[in-house]
Amino acid sequence: MDKMVRCNCRICNNKLISQFLDLGYSPLANSYLTKKNKDSLKNKNFPLKVYFCEICKLVQLPEHENPKNIFSNYDYLSSPSISWLNHSKKYVLQTTNKFFNKSKKKIKVCELASNDGYLLQYFDKKKYEILGIEPAKNIAKLAIKKNIPTISKFFGSKLAKNLKIKKGSYDLIIGNNVFAHVPNIRDFAKGIYILLSKNGFATLEFPHLLNLIRYKQFDTIYHEHFSYLSIKSINFLFKKLNLQIFDIKKLNTHGGSLRIYVKKKSANFVINRKSINKILKEENKAKIFSKNTFQKLQNSIDKNKELFVNLLIKLKLQNKKVVAYGAPAKGNTFLNFCSVDQNLIDFTVDRANTKIGKFLPGSKIPIFHPDKLVSYRPDYIIILPWNLRKEIISQLKKKGIKSKFITCIPNLKITN
Ligand SMILES: [Zn+2]
Repeated sequence: MDKMVRCNCRICNNKLISQFLDLGYSPLANSYLTKKNKDSLKNKNFPLKVYFCEICKLVQLPEHENPKNIFSNYDYLSSPSISWLNHSKKYVLQTTNKFFNKSKKKIKVCELASNDGYLLQYFDKKKYEILGIEPAKNIAKLAIKKNIPTISKFFGSKLAKNLKIKKGSYDLIIGNNVFAHVPNIRDFAKGIYILLSKNGFATLEFPHLLNLIRYKQFDTIYHEHFSYLSIKSINFLFKKLNLQIFDIKKLNTHGGSLRIYVKKKSANFVINRKSINKILKEENKAKIFSKNTFQKLQNSIDKNKELFVNLLIKLKLQNKKVVAYGAPAKGNTFLNFCSVDQNLIDFTVDRANTKIGKFLPGSKIPIFHPDKLVSYRPDYIIILPWNLRKEIISQLKKKGIKSKFITCIPNLKITN
């Protein structure tokens, strides 16, 4: 298997030697199992070992699986999360108001990894010409059904060139939670450069490496998530491609993300240097590029694992009913890192129809509809998507569920 590992940096091609974190072996976090293939010997585990590039400072996973196998039939749907929909709606309102309010021509918007059209649906079709790019065919179909024009292909310089010939360039390119998930980040960024109009801009959202380290969000590491981004490493990449960040916003999504505003170097935009320098300073101050920091993080998550497993064993011995809530990719990293399975967690629940009736990869914990919680009356519910903790607890309480809640990131915590 090791010969499949690509050991050169995704940005600068430098050989990767320094380790960032080692999370053992794990299956692909989004390869949910069916009753039929649950026990198949074909279910593979891959090393989840994260590296750090000494030259461009990119924290990254080497490539183990062909991305076409990972993303061509993806079970992740954006639409089920209410808070994510609200976030998207707000983004569309703010961006259209700030940048296109006075525009008289029809604005062309392209979203990369547009999922089921959860975001593009908020653009007024009279004023905006929209296009989604979504590699997962099953999900692209859902968008098309909702009348959102969508192309089911992988985005990169090749597709960008083709699109530019067929449809012309775009005024706004959006990439939410995709930039960190593309294997060839250099070619993806190059594609953005090609497809952008002369004075167009792109916005990219991604979890910030600083938060991963600061809040011990190691579960956001999984094979589909190739790059763990900092402004320092993105600047290194963009400089080579004549792209430039002109503003940065901090977001609360996914445990602390950044939204960067990107233009061609030659384009005329006011550059908010204050916002950019502030984040660069924070990155340096937190020493997020230091081996000592990586080691401390590893020690801390190893300790957290021990506490969590000990708690589950204790509850099992007390005959408590313990279940989980949610079936996010990060939950799979977490459970597999802790080597927890159905012996300790009875089942999990999720609102996504594409996951109900399946099993979590690795741990093989079954996924049911959230309604099951009402009749089952669990004593404890482990919330796997900790970033949606408040939303989930309030929903469950409204349903009359009186369980205790466990969250594990950044540290183990039990609440009523
Ligand atoms: Zn590098």
